[in-house]
Amino acid sequence: MSTIAAISTPNAVGGIAVIRISGENALAVAEKVFRPYGDKKVAAMQGYTCAYGIAHDNGERIDDCVLTVFRAPHSYTGEDTCEISCHGGLYVSKRILRAVLKNGAVSAEAGEFTKRAFLNGKLDLTQAEAVMDVISARGEAELRMAEQLREGAAFKKAHACSDRLLKLLSGIAAWTDYPDEDIPEIEPTAITAELTEIRGELSSLIRSYDSGRILREGVATAIVGRPNVGKSTLFNCLSGCERSIVTDIAGTTRDVVEETVRLGDIVLRLSDTAGIHDTQDIIEGIGIDIAEKTARNAELVIVVFDGNCPLSADDFALIEKFNNKKCIAVINKTDREQLIETDILNDKFIHIVYISAKNSEGIEQLESAVKELFEINPDSISVATAANERQKQCIERVISSIDEGIKVIETSEMYDALNVLLDEAEQSLLELTGEKITEAVVNEVFSRFCVGK
Ligand code: GDP
Repeated sequence: MSTIAAISTPNAVGGIAVIRISGENALAVAEKVFRPYGDKKVAAMQGYTCAYGIAHDNGERIDDCVLTVFRAPHSYTGEDTCEISCHGGLYVSKRILRAVLKNGAVSAEAGEFTKRAFLNGKLDLTQAEAVMDVISARGEAELRMAEQLREGAAFKKAHACSDRLLKLLSGIAAWTDYPDEDIPEIEPTAITAELTEIRGELSSLIRSYDSGRILREGVATAIVGRPNVGKSTLFNCLSGCERSIVTDIAGTTRDVVEETVRLGDIVLRLSDTAGIHDTQDIIEGIGIDIAEKTARNAELVIVVFDGNCPLSADDFALIEKFNNKKCIAVINKTDREQLIETDILNDKFIHIVYISAKNSEGIEQLESAVKELFEINPDSISVATAANERQKQCIERVISSIDEGIKVIETSEMYDALNVLLDEAEQSLLELTGEKITEAVVNEVFSRFCVGK
């Protein structure tokens, strides 16, 4: 395999930049571009050691650097790896990379270091995928979930299930293929019980998938309400900046204003929309149509009411409009006298939150309501969970084969058919962990990575 190199730090100015080189000639390449101070020799450096020296291009000094050496197999990729840490200027790091490429390395593709770690057995595929999730984590919950996967939580569970399936398969095969031998019969009830248990273990990997996805991708959220109830004030309060125009004049927000905001552990992909009400104004009408469409496409609709006014005809129309969606009613302006008929809203909404958007009060209650609605709790964060659609689909295929297997054994006791189904289940488990997978899938997984990782 070729020796690859890339800048592993962001394409920006910073304190330091790291140029990573991996492959069987990593040390030879490093030796050509890095000269240690003193009498150290790069080729003689042990793994996990550093040297201070200069990076140069054919003798022309580029920068003072530190070279760190990792010897195969004790490196991230499993290959000999060198990392040159230089000053974090864009030109300096690129200049050193150019020298490295001139001296025998080739440019690494996106995710190629992690792909090599996978191919060299340092990581299974679920752990490799988790590396990218760790990098993209925007908060504590996302990071904790990604770390679990990186530590192999899903892999260990899938592996244990795979071992149990193989044991079952070999037991059935021994018994059916060698009827003359003295092999004890496996009771159909014992097979069903074992399969049901394996199924349960695997189901737990996808049970929290939706809450995990919500934590990773955020919730597409529309803030709706009639004009002047405080939608833009709430939007600004959540986003922490003045993005939406707040005035007493009805119909100020005509377009959809969008922002990604963090509400505790949860990320909301927030859209502030035009006030929905009966209007003759053509332009405002267009804004209202867009608002309704945005809300219909959202995963969560926050319907805002003005607690300082009795419910109006427009409010009543809104209550009915989104009752088939995941909804939270927000009663705003709690700092003023409360004239709204809360008993009517209590009948219509399961989740009602009282806030003063102007004073940023009640936001924690809003966070709790979102968590309750999307079933996000410490359990959904702490259990091992499928991290993406690929993993989820593999697990669903295993479960479906097991379900069919249970049906076969309960209705016909056709062991040949059962063997085929359990073999299918086993193949899908191997696909999940990457132990048996096509090159196209591997390439697809790693193409989502950044260069240098
Ligand atoms: P929108 O049309 O629904 O987006 O409403 P705005 O956010 O533009 O707010 C309309 C008016 O209500 C503005 O004068 C805000 O200052 C006021 N407002 C918004 N939230 C509150 C609140 O919590 N308390 C009080 N007293 N006034 C508020």
